[in-house]
Amino acid sequence: MPSDPNCLFCKIVAGALPSTPVHEDDRVIAFRDIAPRAPTHILVVPRDHIPSAAELTENDGPILGHLFAVAAQIARSEGIADDGYRIVTNVGRWGGQTVDHLHFHLMGGRAFEWPPG
Ligand code: AMP
Repeated sequence: MPSDPNCLFCKIVAGALPSTPVHEDDRVIAFRDIAPRAPTHILVVPRDHIPSAAELTENDGPILGHLFAVAAQIARSEGIADDGYRIVTNVGRWGGQTVDHLHFHLMGGRAFEWPPG
């Protein structure tokens, strides 16, 4: 989908808003969450504007695989892979989504509860 001029993460992708990047390639960027909920809290984001996981189709398999491969690579480089971590995507109001551009929260550095609140 084309970039949305009103989308916060499209602005970060375009470099129009600052972020603290940890990874960039031709399809995906990752940057530190501005309000971290864990010692390591990174957002892994496709450059393309996909509003949420609810909009994904069979055709998005390659980008999804790449997002998860990037997340695993970052987890190793951040030193959280051995203890384990959580990857979360929120969908919609009750799911807790506040930015309508697909993103995966990569969180680690502490133990998490299940089920989440
Ligand atoms: P969600 O609520 O699941 O849609 O996740 C959105 C996340 O984006 C939240 O964890 C916010 O703290 C984070 N966030 C919002 N604005 C920024 C920003 N400018 N830079 C980095 N993270 C942000």
